[in-house]
Amino acid sequence: ESLLSASNHALTARKQVETATQRLEREFTISTSMLHNMVKAFIRDMERGLKRDNAVMKMIPSYVVRRPSGDEDGTYLALDLGGSNFRVCEVTLKGKGQVRTRQKKFVVSEELKTGTAVALFDFFADCVGQTMDEYHLDKNASLKMGFTFSFPVDQHALNKGTLFYWTKGFTASGVVGVDAVKLLQDAFKRKKLRINVTALVNDTVGTLISHAYVDTATYMGVILGTGTNAAYVERIESIPKWTGPKPESGEMVINMEWGAWGQDGIILPTTEYDAAVDRASPNPKKQSYEKMISGLYLGEITRYVLIDLISTGQLFAGRRCQALEAEHSFDTANMSRIERDHSMELTDTKSIFEDLYAVRQTTLSDRRLIKRVCELVGTRAARLAAIGVASVVTKTNKLAGCTVAVDGSVFEHYPHFANRMRDALRELLGINADGIVLAQARDGSGQGAALIAALADVGEEDI
Ligand code: BGC
Ligand code: MG
Repeated sequence: ESLLSASNHALTARKQVETATQRLEREFTISTSMLHNMVKAFIRDMERGLKRDNAVMKMIPSYVVRRPSGDEDGTYLALDLGGSNFRVCEVTLKGKGQVRTRQKKFVVSEELKTGTAVALFDFFADCVGQTMDEYHLDKNASLKMGFTFSFPVDQHALNKGTLFYWTKGFTASGVVGVDAVKLLQDAFKRKKLRINVTALVNDTVGTLISHAYVDTATYMGVILGTGTNAAYVERIESIPKWTGPKPESGEMVINMEWGAWGQDGIILPTTEYDAAVDRASPNPKKQSYEKMISGLYLGEITRYVLIDLISTGQLFAGRRCQALEAEHSFDTANMSRIERDHSMELTDTKSIFEDLYAVRQTTLSDRRLIKRVCELVGTRAARLAAIGVASVVTKTNKLAGCTVAVDGSVFEHYPHFANRMRDALRELLGINADGIVLAQARDGSGQGAALIAALADVGEEDI
């Protein structure tokens, strides 16, 4: 009798797992028709942003009015503040699309991210000083620098712009509303560094420009990393809010700040788990699209799903897992490992949970359920990212073909991400999708800032 009831129990458990899976599939799946509707809304929101200042998607004119010819040369410094890394680069442009870069990476501590402007920018200046010493660069040579600052900046000139709001977990005080170049120059002054910051650049713009140096068909730069965003080349007539002089090239790179898309609460198919992630973030109701796509959040969404499945008894037989209960205790890198686990018994997934998260015992059906959750969250992210790309390509009439330079940890390391994006692009654009090259870019944002500083040198008459 006890045998029978045990097997009955197993049967019910299996049924419940199927139910959980089915429910999650329904909540996380983005159908082809949803994709189409969202592209329509996305293009409409792009147009709004190009028209006025206070739209959801900011569509910021970058003051970058031409792409490189490949002939640019000279030595420049670049700073690259991304989401997780800070880099100091020395970039030597050699013409013919050739670049040599040396760079040093530094970690920005949580304390600096959430401290004061002076502490943060003094740290940057110290890193620059240290790097110049190590590379034996002349501190009196008054080198030119491009500053990649990967946050939404209200750009006032090529080397001037104020932070609209922080994203990606930064909250340092005294930065919002202040010119980021001035903060940096002041820090250099305090540290007796004679450096001239001639370009302030978003990482998407840097990625676009550095890739265009080697592939002139590049019209778009995308970051899918800790955060997400894109920049693309727009015709100046299609930017009604631009009141400055008309550039000779007739075009302007736009920093879209697409991460904000959907924060008006209208279009994105969010789940209760997305709502939980949003509530716990330092910027609730902001960056909704980013919070469904980028690396800072995918692990967190998954964590909320797993916690919920445990609480309903559908995972780990309902046994609590304390290591999973703290915020941000489940990194997106874990999802990559789980999605890459193709073993019959899902042994790597087993070791993640039994070794790293101290779950006493996992069953194969636990592990299958977890893997399915990762697939659902990861696939939704890739399909959402494809919406942005398809929208830009459609709006700018590049359906005949173009190169999209993509950088960031999620695109580079998350398994199947690029293929899932391509699948969605094909559903959206049919055969035209084949002309869109999603090119892996690496470390382009620093190089791009240096290139933009170089372009500013030759082209000051343009704007
Ligand atoms: C920022 C963008 C940036 C993106 C990728 C977002 O959080 O708002 O400016 O380009 O992250 O780094
Ligand atoms: Mg970066």
